[in-house]
Amino acid sequence: MSIEFINPEFEVVRDMTRCTNCGLCEKQCANGVHKFNSVTKKLESDETKCVNCQRCVAFCPTRAIKIVKNPCRISDNSNWPNDTVNEIIKQANSSGVLLSSMGNPKPNPVYWDKILINASQVTNPSIDPLREPMETRVFLGSKSSSIKYDENGNIITKLNPLLELSMPVMFSAMSYGSISYNAHAALAMAATDIGTMYNTGEGGLHEDFYKYGSNTIVQVASGRFGVHEAYLNAGAAIEIKMGQGAKPGIGGHLPGAKIVGDVSRTRMIPEGYDAISPAPHHDIYSIEDLRQLVYSLKEATDYKKPIIVKVAAVHNIAAIASGIARSGADIIAIDGYRGGTGAAPTRIRDNVGIPVELALAAVDQRLREEGIRNTVSLVAGGSIRNASDVVKAVALGADACYIATSALIAMGCHLCRSCQTGKCNWGIATQRPELTSRLDPQIGHTRLMNLLLSWNSEIKEMMGGMGINSIEALCGNRLMLRGIGLTEKELQILGISHAGE
Ligand code: SF4
Ligand code: SF4
Repeated sequence: MSIEFINPEFEVVRDMTRCTNCGLCEKQCANGVHKFNSVTKKLESDETKCVNCQRCVAFCPTRAIKIVKNPCRISDNSNWPNDTVNEIIKQANSSGVLLSSMGNPKPNPVYWDKILINASQVTNPSIDPLREPMETRVFLGSKSSSIKYDENGNIITKLNPLLELSMPVMFSAMSYGSISYNAHAALAMAATDIGTMYNTGEGGLHEDFYKYGSNTIVQVASGRFGVHEAYLNAGAAIEIKMGQGAKPGIGGHLPGAKIVGDVSRTRMIPEGYDAISPAPHHDIYSIEDLRQLVYSLKEATDYKKPIIVKVAAVHNIAAIASGIARSGADIIAIDGYRGGTGAAPTRIRDNVGIPVELALAAVDQRLREEGIRNTVSLVAGGSIRNASDVVKAVALGADACYIATSALIAMGCHLCRSCQTGKCNWGIATQRPELTSRLDPQIGHTRLMNLLLSWNSEIKEMMGGMGINSIEALCGNRLMLRGIGLTEKELQILGISHAGE
């Protein structure tokens, strides 16, 4: 039976008047695109292997290479776009489930871009953040509704543990295994120096990173990889992962090829075995079951750590969040359908879940109506791309945001969307020593620090423009937002007025 051929998605254009045959592109490409032909004495390209990671483009000393979208495509139309046709051919060739990485790329509305931020003009003057104090610190966790003092003025109310962040942005869960040791080291160091948190994901915590514990969120996922008492006590907070925006309703899968050496030891599973986390937690089938796990984790850590429950943004998210708030969780993390991943079935990534903007607004509204908003903090994630997304998320009700793809881009990711292959040419989503060494953790650390510091300055500028001097005063302040090009229903769910109103 003949296998149907798909035109390569990308074309390697090599300017032979510039190419000096130095061979750097061949050395840089883990996908084996470039090969020196000893007969013709020239570099040649196998374009079927190119993922457009741009590594060769960046490293070619004579700028001889361009990677361009291949114009030779199977005849398509708006009902049968080329990607859809190619997917059918791939499945007809292989009979397999299609796998992808990073977030949903479909051209659905990005609500952040349809929301505009207010600024003070005549009354309620703006604040100059360079000259006046501006508070971007946030405390995440369950806040007491009243505080009692004894006759000497000492607080007698038992206060719940809180996470203190210097700014309302944390690094979201990315496991050691899905990303490299060096990428984890850069995240841990940057979180520590900035005064925020990074998140282990479901891969356990490498012993070298225990020293960053006060800036670490340790995750407990359905596979329970790497979870033990010392791990739970090592972090500043524990996150129960019920769902992930890129793949709601299904578990995780890290291929055996990535379960090597330290990754296998940290996860407490044998080398070469696939790490498959089941779709559900096999001990959670109700809010009461979730409550048991929340309190087991609190008990195991002497009630000193806030518990986060992370869920994917799905239908009825407001009711789900209400249940989670009543389970004893201190923080709810909502992950929208554009959230990234190291590997997810393409069909799930692109069709399941809802935008975090709508989910966040619905959850904040519901918890306020039920009078339980102060019992939990809300964290929004799933494609937070810049400081204005953060400001809009906070005004829609988030206490803080999670970022991951933005952090990877800061470290060098070129969004080639092939993390699932384990051959990341930028040394991030790989465990191959010759590739991981390409990411210098110190440089990654500096670049992450720069990113967060610049976002913090921009957040202060936008808050100052609104005449607001603290994240707490901005949280849930939807009067500061207006919609543009949105339907009545969308405005109603977001709880904001249209621009001009
Ligand atoms: S890196 Fe550039 S100059 Fe060197 S062989 Fe490749 S295309 Fe030619
Ligand atoms: S992390 Fe690496 S493999 Fe994944 S999208 Fe970025 S550059 Fe590509």
